[in-house]
Amino acid sequence: MKQSEKQFEKISGRKIGALGMGRSGLAAALLGKRLGAEVFVSDSKSTEDAGAALEILKSAGVECETGGHTDRILESDYVVISPGVSADSTIVEKLQQQGTPVFSELEFASWVNQGRMIAVTGSNGKTTTATMIDYILRAENYKTFLCGNVGQPFSGCAADIPSDGVAVVEVSSYQLEFVDQFRPDVALITNVTPDHLERHGSMKQYRETKLRITSSQTEKDTLVLNIESPELDARSIQTRARTLFFGKKETLSTCGVGESGQAVFLREGVIFGNFGQTEVKLFARAELRVPGAHNVENAMAAASAALAFGVSPDSIRSGLLSFPGVEHRLEFVTEIDGVRLINDSKATNLDATISALQATDGAVGLILGGRGKGEDFAVLGQSVAGKVGHIMALGESKELIFEALGKITPVEFADSMTHALSRLLDLSGAGETILLSPGCASFDMYRNFEERGAAFKEAAHSLAKKAGHKNKAGAVEN
Ligand code: ADP
Repeated sequence: MKQSEKQFEKISGRKIGALGMGRSGLAAALLGKRLGAEVFVSDSKSTEDAGAALEILKSAGVECETGGHTDRILESDYVVISPGVSADSTIVEKLQQQGTPVFSELEFASWVNQGRMIAVTGSNGKTTTATMIDYILRAENYKTFLCGNVGQPFSGCAADIPSDGVAVVEVSSYQLEFVDQFRPDVALITNVTPDHLERHGSMKQYRETKLRITSSQTEKDTLVLNIESPELDARSIQTRARTLFFGKKETLSTCGVGESGQAVFLREGVIFGNFGQTEVKLFARAELRVPGAHNVENAMAAASAALAFGVSPDSIRSGLLSFPGVEHRLEFVTEIDGVRLINDSKATNLDATISALQATDGAVGLILGGRGKGEDFAVLGQSVAGKVGHIMALGESKELIFEALGKITPVEFADSMTHALSRLLDLSGAGETILLSPGCASFDMYRNFEERGAAFKEAAHSLAKKAGHKNKAGAVEN
């Protein structure tokens, strides 16, 4: 029996429960239905909040319940869980108690995928790195499917990936909570720094969850790691995969890591790939179109994954050089009277905000805050001192920001994005930057980080328009 048939057997004709009706739950349910399963979807959301997803499921003939979980889902052969549903929720505990297997949506989709797979996880840089990998593979003429946390859910495209295609999957720690046979040809961990500790409980648990990306890998596969991330110390990682490291330090080329001594490293502004005894020049740091040291790291990570995949150095270079950046990640929005406005709404933890500050030249007016994740804002102290002239604190974490950073730089409370932006514009001069890099989740004020970024951009464009009118009016008067 072919591998694919064996995998489809796990789905067609089976009784599958799906927990959650968000993007991935919806995609998993539709995939199950399409492959001949009897699917039942259960969500604690109200019918009203479930909205369009419920309509789509119903019209596809999928049975659903909203407003809570009845015992019906307990009758499933197994359950596919969405990343939004917590591992310690009552319904998951019930399922586990009665021995019903629970799989993440990612695991489920991977059963169906006939192509190869590169999976990217980490605390920061996942979307950027996965998108860079996509650019590189396309430069080498691969048929790629960028999915997971970026673009569409893996279940949304898994059945369409041909055997010569490649799934480039962005994987969050939540999606790794319930993996079983998920086995990427290349797995990449960009870095591990504090994030989502409110859900994972501790840094140890969070790190262990991230490392599940490699738990089913074999010696035929590759695990790419950031040698400069202390949490990714090779000696403490158990994997059967070949390990490939990247890091900005040149010592990497001689430190003998990885079975074949392969590594990607930086020397005098140039990134090299090291294959045993042979060094190959990949690209110059200055050639990248995206700013900041963290993006050099992301590019090195992407190059490492591509090398492990067998992509030519030429395609690595041309793919990376064509990469323009991703929306809401240090995205230039507009300039008003010489002040640059940058949208980094995707900075949802403090490490990301630190990277953004390091990547920004000159003085910064910072919009910070939202729903905190239990991190101490004081870790921003060093990056803020002497660089950030003023902070506008937004959302639930306002007071904590004031307490942690108020002695280092002036902190004011903002009522809205427009208020924060216009106040900072008043305080900033030409050559300076206003940066939205909130270091927090957005859910206290917005539906998601995209909506928060859009609010910033809208406010920015409308202030730019007003400033334009003011300037024009000034010109006439003069
Ligand atoms: P993720 O998908 O892991 O959230 P993104 O690529 O979307 O990562 O970037 C999220 C935020 O983290 C951005 O605001 C960016 O400024 C910052 N960032 C990106 N790459 C890194 C990195 N390698 N290290 C630290 N911060 C980073």
